[in-house]
Amino acid sequence: MTIQHTWNQHVVKKGNKSIVFQYIINHTPISRADIAKATGLNKSTVSSLVSELLDENLIYESGPGESSGGRRPVMLLFNELSGFSIGIDLGVNYLLGILTDLSGNIVNEEKVHFTELPYEQIQEELFTMITTLIKNAPSSTYGVIGIGIGVPGAVNKEGEVLHAPNLMWENVKLKSIVEEKYSIPVIIANEANAGAYGEKKFGAGKDANNLVYVSAGTGIGAGLILNGQLYQGNNGFSGEMGHMTIEVDGPQCTCGSNGCWELYASEKALLIKAALVQKTAVSSEISLEALLKLAPEDPHILNLFKEIGTYLGVGINNIIQTFNPDHVIIGNRLEAAKHYLNNPIVTYIKEHTQPFHQNELEVSFSQLSTHSTALGVAAFTVESFLQIELVTT
Ligand SMILES: [Zn+2]
Repeated sequence: MTIQHTWNQHVVKKGNKSIVFQYIINHTPISRADIAKATGLNKSTVSSLVSELLDENLIYESGPGESSGGRRPVMLLFNELSGFSIGIDLGVNYLLGILTDLSGNIVNEEKVHFTELPYEQIQEELFTMITTLIKNAPSSTYGVIGIGIGVPGAVNKEGEVLHAPNLMWENVKLKSIVEEKYSIPVIIANEANAGAYGEKKFGAGKDANNLVYVSAGTGIGAGLILNGQLYQGNNGFSGEMGHMTIEVDGPQCTCGSNGCWELYASEKALLIKAALVQKTAVSSEISLEALLKLAPEDPHILNLFKEIGTYLGVGINNIIQTFNPDHVIIGNRLEAAKHYLNNPIVTYIKEHTQPFHQNELEVSFSQLSTHSTALGVAAFTVESFLQIELVTT
């Protein structure tokens, strides 16, 4: 009986502490009295919880704040520099790694490009990047509190990458591999889910309640924020929209099916089509960056972008009809081509999406450019460390 009682009290106290902490994070700087007023907790409870948070260096006190007469209160601030998070976007032909503080401000950044590396070599590049980010992290109370990695594939709840067709990975136990190496908590996420979360928290989707993030890179994935929460499906595999069939008798896809959306609307599709136009093999000379340079003077290339944009519109139309979102955000590599893609996408939607779906619908490109996924996974690890959840009001 006694044990049960103690445990209950502990849970209640822990709950109150996270309420107070979360309130400070969201309303920094704030006084003890204002926290008590807003949370309904009594002043002595707030004071003792604040003392604990101060001792843990998760918050700090600053000089007196503004006050209308009387004794000026001491203000409490979230100590976003008490720890740092690593966010990695593991792409098919690149690694982007960032070190952020606990508020998601980027402190350091590393990037490396490669083509068609086998798993072992990507792992080596990944370890080099993580080691560098850890080594260059500013000193802090908690150090590097977690490593988040976004991958273009299906990830199960144990952090195993089950299937990443464009990387040609099967059953890679990435979470345990990286945790074993660094002894730091690791979160593995689907890159589109992480991207959706990044845009919701830091980017174009801050005000959206039902948001679809279309990650258009080598392949295509979608991340869903539904009713303000990240939706990941029964086992975490939702959003594989790059593999929805848009042509029954279409060419075969790396996933084993035929006529998948990403065969028509991804960066890979663009590069394959560009090689056909230029009558060469897909090579390092044909890159998105090179095509963007050529487009203004080459009507064939311009047409390719239009075609890719139209096909993006085809899939996005299907997504809108399914989820009735308030915001569709297009991100990842093809965000760089937004000036060429926007018109055909918008035109397709205007002409094909049912009018009632178009009410209160925004379609835009990522605000975080290529950083949505890295910021999203960095935020996952911060939240797991702080044990708070994104609260949407
Ligand atoms: Zn497919």
